[in-house]
Amino acid sequence: MFRLHVLASGSSGNASVVEDMHTGKGVLIDCGISKRAFMEGCAATGFDPSGLEAVVVTHEHADHVKGLGVVMRGLSKMGCRPPLYAHAACIEASRSLSDLRSDFDVRTFSDGDQISAAGMSAHPFRTSHDASASFGFRFECDGDALGFATDTGVVSAQAREALGGVRILGLEANHGLKMLDAAEYPAYVKKRIASDRGHLNNDQSASELRLLLSARLESVAALHVSENANTYRSAREALLSVVEQEGHLASVQVGFQRRPILVG
Ligand SMILES: [Zn+2]
Ligand SMILES: [Zn+2]
Repeated sequence: MFRLHVLASGSSGNASVVEDMHTGKGVLIDCGISKRAFMEGCAATGFDPSGLEAVVVTHEHADHVKGLGVVMRGLSKMGCRPPLYAHAACIEASRSLSDLRSDFDVRTFSDGDQISAAGMSAHPFRTSHDASASFGFRFECDGDALGFATDTGVVSAQAREALGGVRILGLEANHGLKMLDAAEYPAYVKKRIASDRGHLNNDQSASELRLLLSARLESVAALHVSENANTYRSAREALLSVVEQEGHLASVQVGFQRRPILVG
């Protein structure tokens, strides 16, 4: 059985751990936070970081990779040296990732690959984002399934299929359209965020969730919530309203920038 530790989520830094509760082993998705935030986050949600057996990277933006070096070196001192998986274009585009190649086991993945680690399999699927290559992941283990998708302007049919029928779902709800309009960003930044290669807004996220509601779905977390163009409450309510309208029993949480949460 999976559980998802959202250590940090948002444009200032992201890190989540998918754990198999039975073994305590896990896979880290991205690390755009400090070593201290990572260690404190793990302690707060009850994950032993020495159980990490792989790190997977969604894309090269700093809020997803800037802490990889310090955290992997810190893990290494604890005797934990998980391989790091990223798309080749992502490694090329990220100095942090390129720098890690000399010291760590950095492996590449492509579309359709299956990454096996921590007794689970991770299946990368494309997201729609302004990075060299960007991915979400579907994790499977002993009949359990977990879907994770952030940093995507739209959800493609392929991504929707990959997220279907999961028990735990982490889905981006980045901004509210009106709040983005009123936010103090330059016009080009607002355009980028709202574009098909930007971020999902609350309404889009809610529409996706409606399509993804299944009998197996138990826990949903709104992720990558903007602190400038959204509120945690609005993001959660957007998803919760879908669950309530459909009479579904799934719980809805929200991932924070500065407070770790446990999902599932
Ligand atoms: Zn991001
Ligand atoms: Zn990004």
